[in-house]
Amino acid sequence: MDWAELDAAELVALARAHEDPDGHLPVPDVVGWDIFPWEGELRPRRLRDPEPEPPRHGEDGPAGCHACQHPPEGLVWSDGGWRLTVPAGGPVPTFVLHPVEHLDLGDLDEAQAADLGVVVVRVERAIAAVPGVGRVHVSRFGDGGAHLHVFLFARPAGLLQLRGSCLTDWEDILPPLPPERWTAIARSVGQRLATWRGEAGPGPG
Ligand SMILES: [Zn+2]
Repeated sequence: MDWAELDAAELVALARAHEDPDGHLPVPDVVGWDIFPWEGELRPRRLRDPEPEPPRHGEDGPAGCHACQHPPEGLVWSDGGWRLTVPAGGPVPTFVLHPVEHLDLGDLDEAQAADLGVVVVRVERAIAAVPGVGRVHVSRFGDGGAHLHVFLFARPAGLLQLRGSCLTDWEDILPPLPPERWTAIARSVGQRLATWRGEAGPGPG
């Protein structure tokens, strides 16, 4: 096996070698971090053996893609090439940026890739300009859907426990914002983007 290769079975074997007699890995330092949202006795789940990768939504093209087959939910802004949506209410305004065309990140040509960089920076600025936003987090996972979708989270200023990698866990814990606030924030972001490049969407709600 080439060293410049990722071997899931090797990682599982390493994990097994570090398990305690009960079959669990040691509890990591993250449980003591200020941002970690859980307390109490915890233990890591056991790492399963490698499994076949399940197909993602839209893996075979636009016909099986939710983003392509349904009107965008909570449209905030679109310029024809990109769409920005806020799909549902939550405790932290969360925006999703995706190309109008059925493309994944690695499918973008050079011009689209360059444009993605410009658009992400513009959207970050538009969200960061909302009073009370302390930081804008940007994430792309891609494990569920084949149609590129980039998440942008508006982390409230002063909520230091929501910093970093645990923000999405806190999203599952905290109650949703009032719909009026969610809608007003989304509209203000859409309006900032509309003055830069094209039309704002109708906004959610
Ligand atoms: Zn699609």
